[in-house]
Amino acid sequence: MSGGSTIQIDRLRRTFRTGGADIVAVDDLTMTVRAGSLVAITGPSGSGKSTLLHLIGAIERPDSGTITADEIEVTGLRRTRLAAYRRSIGFVFQRYHLLPALTALDNVVAPVLPYKVDFRKADRARELLAAVDLEGRENALPAQLSGGQQQRVAIARALIGRPRLLLADEPTGNLDSKSGGEILNLIADLRATYGMTVLVATHEQRIAARADRVLRLRDGAVVEDLDLQVGHPASDTLTRLDQLRA
Ligand code: ADP
Ligand code: MG
Repeated sequence: MSGGSTIQIDRLRRTFRTGGADIVAVDDLTMTVRAGSLVAITGPSGSGKSTLLHLIGAIERPDSGTITADEIEVTGLRRTRLAAYRRSIGFVFQRYHLLPALTALDNVVAPVLPYKVDFRKADRARELLAAVDLEGRENALPAQLSGGQQQRVAIARALIGRPRLLLADEPTGNLDSKSGGEILNLIADLRATYGMTVLVATHEQRIAARADRVLRLRDGAVVEDLDLQVGHPASDTLTRLDQLRA
């Protein structure tokens, strides 16, 4: 698959100090994410999924270890280049975080509004709203849209800067089963259309049907790493996949 960032993570560690006790949120984690792959990050609440995504997106800094995205060591970047790196990534959250006073179109444009870009902002926003199946709703306010539609706007907004990496943190967590399934399929389809690497933290077992790889975290460490890419049908992987789909 063309496009998409390659992410290399080496001995990544992040602790939080809360009232004396240290919580190890990400514990000596090492892995490589292939360019263009769709990786599901699963695991119980508190297992480190969000912290890992925040570290990869450079929203948080690790205590130690390195993250390299396309040969750039993210963990070593200083202010200006760090800000540019953050802007190069698409983020989708459980709560949509749309600006309530802005239309769907203006919400999608918002991340690039202050910046000079080599595309026409409103045109691209319209194209993205069509890609998330919201053609005709450009002028709707968030309150006039369903949860699933608001998350679609948030996904279009995440894509406005042409990211090579999309990070989604429990994007279906606030949605009913049907809308949640549609959002997961949409993310998987957009990954192919725009040639991105996608990491999705999710409790949804259904993501296994669309993911190339499923990581399971516990206490900040990878306790299971399933390669589901076609062409690597290891029999134990297929057995696990059946269990996940059951
Ligand atoms: P998940 O997304 O899998 O639920 P998190 O990455 O949010 O897990 O949390 C991992 C661990 O780190 C948990 O024990 C959580 O309580 C702790 N943690 C996360 N963020 C903070 C924070 N800002 N301050 C203190 N502890 C935190
Ligand atoms: Mg989380």
